[in-house]
Amino acid sequence: MHNTPLKHIGFIGLGIMGRAMAFNAARAGFAVTVTNRSPDKTIPFAEQGIPVAATIQDLAKACEAIVIMVTGPEALDEVVHALTRVPLTDKVIINCSTVSLAATLAAGAAIAQAGGSCLDAPVSGSKIPAETAKLVFLVGGDANTLERCHPLLAAMGSTILHCGPLGDGTRMKLAVNLMLANTLHALSETLVFAEKIGLDRRAVANAINSGVMASPLLKMKSDAMLKRDFAPHFPLDLVFKDINLILDEAGKNGAVLPATSAVRESFNSAMAHGRGREDIGAVLQTLELMSGFKP
Ligand code: NAP
Repeated sequence: MHNTPLKHIGFIGLGIMGRAMAFNAARAGFAVTVTNRSPDKTIPFAEQGIPVAATIQDLAKACEAIVIMVTGPEALDEVVHALTRVPLTDKVIINCSTVSLAATLAAGAAIAQAGGSCLDAPVSGSKIPAETAKLVFLVGGDANTLERCHPLLAAMGSTILHCGPLGDGTRMKLAVNLMLANTLHALSETLVFAEKIGLDRRAVANAINSGVMASPLLKMKSDAMLKRDFAPHFPLDLVFKDINLILDEAGKNGAVLPATSAVRESFNSAMAHGRGREDIGAVLQTLELMSGFKP
């Protein structure tokens, strides 16, 4: 029935984020079923007795709500194409992947055509907030549908922001990630500049983290950069994808973003140096190379 509480939840995409979100939903008492394109990522779930669906269609048949957490627009298109091969009557599909506005709206239309409802609910927060259920959900879609999904989202996050109709979660996420990408790039440039003018990087990070610019993000990322820990929390190839989505949307809407365009080229260089699967903070290494630091 349309207003019954959601119990059976499917998860498609068990990467850094989807894996943690699915485990948190299971811990909160939801009946979780998972599937992933590469079957190896389902093994930790099977080991804990969490059902693994062989196909997206099998998962859709078994679940009332389906959370999608895949790489980007092309992956979402593929998943939705597979999902809509079965009827989705009364089912809710929650896309948490960061994708283009066009992909969000196309997914919503295809899901509606198959009888389901759709929320776009991309997240702010990275690996650790996903693991500790502290994500911020930026939700677009119908308020009643969101109300029905609220307990599920609350099991995976600390804040649920209803941004507006379908598409507004995606719009909000792109705006937030513009700030994120430029901030981390500025932090990286600051550390390179500081060392070049004869300052100790640690002292500079401490000065930043002691003043009005202090933030959990800058503290976490400056600590990781100083330790040269580039293990992926938010992989660099995903932020590069997001900057491209941002600039594409900016171009369509007459927003002129000179700094973001320059930052894109730094991330482009990091990608060309094979750093796509390292953390976003690995852009520091590209800036160091450009400034003549020895590797
Ligand atoms: P990830 O670790 O790279 O995982 C990506 C997932 O997408 C994997 O399960 C992958 O399956 C699946 N996938 C890729 N292409 C697919 C396709 N064509 N069909 C089906 N599945 C496909 O990425 P993540 O870090 O979890 O990020 C997921 C989403 O959250 C992205 O949109 C990202 O921008 C967003 N996000 C990430 C963070 C973060 O800090 N990591 C923060 C906020 C938002 P395989 O295992 O088969 O490759």
